[in-house]
Amino acid sequence: MTRHNEIEQKLTEVRERIAASAKATGRDPKEILLIAVTKTFPLSDIEILKDLGISDFGENRDADGAQKAAAVPANWHFQGQIQSNKIKSLCTWSHVVHSLDDARHFALIEKSTVHPLEIFLQVSLDGADNRGGSDTETLYTLASLVQASPVHHLAGLMAVAPLGKNPTDSFSKLAEIHRGFIREFPRATSLSAGMSGDYEEAIMHGATHCRIGSSILGSR
Ligand SMILES: *Cc1c(COP(=O)(O)O)cnc(C)c1O
Repeated sequence: MTRHNEIEQKLTEVRERIAASAKATGRDPKEILLIAVTKTFPLSDIEILKDLGISDFGENRDADGAQKAAAVPANWHFQGQIQSNKIKSLCTWSHVVHSLDDARHFALIEKSTVHPLEIFLQVSLDGADNRGGSDTETLYTLASLVQASPVHHLAGLMAVAPLGKNPTDSFSKLAEIHRGFIREFPRATSLSAGMSGDYEEAIMHGATHCRIGSSILGSR
């Protein structure tokens, strides 16, 4: 089987499962954006995915994202841990940032602005910051800062389900946090949640952006 066929087959399955999960909760599958997480995978895979109709790609490391985005024009997402010294570069190639959890980083983003960014605030669901994300109080302060920006857009919230916990519990907690959040920030309607192992549960809890890598491209 060629790499193209292999990716096509896996992508079809993921798309079908996304549609089925959406329908199971009375949602329109079109509400859900599939972001193909291409970290560690080569440019040739990204070209194949583009051929198959994928327009959104996600990377976790600034250097890799910068290189891939220069080679393949698309909508580029960053969902890795933000490092201060990489923000200037990040602002040049990314269009969507999923992992903002620190006000100092947003100040640097504003200083380094090249074009408007869609910004998700990452929430910690386990109280610790093992997988990144801020606590609920910090979240509201950060959201006010982003909302006040004349350039950047506050898209919504993002979370990674804590390891070893039931994803249904984690995503129902996230959905509750998001409902409260939207009351204060009514335009921040997007919810970035769901990876290869848990995107169906995430969609059933309102995810609008799923970040999926290994289910489409194989294990890394
Ligand atoms: C790697 C990664 C993904 C994709 O994970 P898969 O399990 O390969 O689907 C999604 N979100 C974040 C934050 C990641 O680091």
